[in-house]
Amino acid sequence: MTINPIADKAEAYLAYETEEVITWCDGCGNFAIQNALKRALVLEGYKPHEVLLCFDIGCSGNGSDKIEGYTIHGLHGRVIPLAAGAVIANPKMKVIASAGDGATLNEGVNHLIHAIRSDYPVLFLHHDNQNFALTTGQASCTTPQGCKANAAPEGAPEEAINPLSLVLSQHPSFVARTISSDTDHMTEVFRAGLKHKGFAFIEILQTCPTYNKHMTDPWLLEKAKEVKDLPDYDAQDIWAARKIAEIDEPIHTGILYHHKNRDNFLEVMKFRDGFITSPTEEVKHYDLSDILETL
Ligand code: SF4
Ligand code: MG
Repeated sequence: MTINPIADKAEAYLAYETEEVITWCDGCGNFAIQNALKRALVLEGYKPHEVLLCFDIGCSGNGSDKIEGYTIHGLHGRVIPLAAGAVIANPKMKVIASAGDGATLNEGVNHLIHAIRSDYPVLFLHHDNQNFALTTGQASCTTPQGCKANAAPEGAPEEAINPLSLVLSQHPSFVARTISSDTDHMTEVFRAGLKHKGFAFIEILQTCPTYNKHMTDPWLLEKAKEVKDLPDYDAQDIWAARKIAEIDEPIHTGILYHHKNRDNFLEVMKFRDGFITSPTEEVKHYDLSDILETL
């Protein structure tokens, strides 16, 4: 029997709920992802005013008004610099960035590379539904080669990018994978990502029943295999993670790699040594009422 981990925390969970109209299609994996994120935040003791949620453009980005907290809905492919700038300005906020495969790996892959290298203290949720869903299902760079999509009626011509292989090749500090078909698993992986002090990259294989007809809930649940269940799997061994990232089946999930002791971007910024304030607290305030009255 599964025990609801937030059964006694309904009030804390409801604090994250909004009254906005849902725009996602029936059965979209974004519902479960956002549910798991709210659960993870509650279980880790975060209140909405302690969290900044940054959203890219895409179906995942349309979750920006469906969760309470400080939110930013930015330009396509640019959510990582938004999130990085915010956390540098105010390291007291827990900063979470969400983006799809198109935004992350087509439009903004340069930002991803530098976020890994800089190890910004950001939890990054990669909603990978293998297509540009918001613009009606065009092939993205994670669409499997040969898979038919809008604007690619003969099938996507190019080899797909393997997000985990790419990320693991850049010496990250935290890499995990989960599936939108398993809310409990997502919740636990998100909790681990929230606890990580550097850039936590979480690949979420997300169902999109409208445009991705092969990556269904039963398909994902049948193929998913937790790395914790592998004999002798060591999540601190990056070569073990790189090897497993190359395997298509089973789809290995869980925390694939975790470098626990690496200093993050803020910790290596020595020019801030001795400051007990954050940059946001050092901003000067000016009275603009005279100027505003002239407008
Ligand atoms: Fe979800 Fe796909 Fe519909 Fe977008 S198009 S809301 S990703 S099911
Ligand atoms: Mg997508």
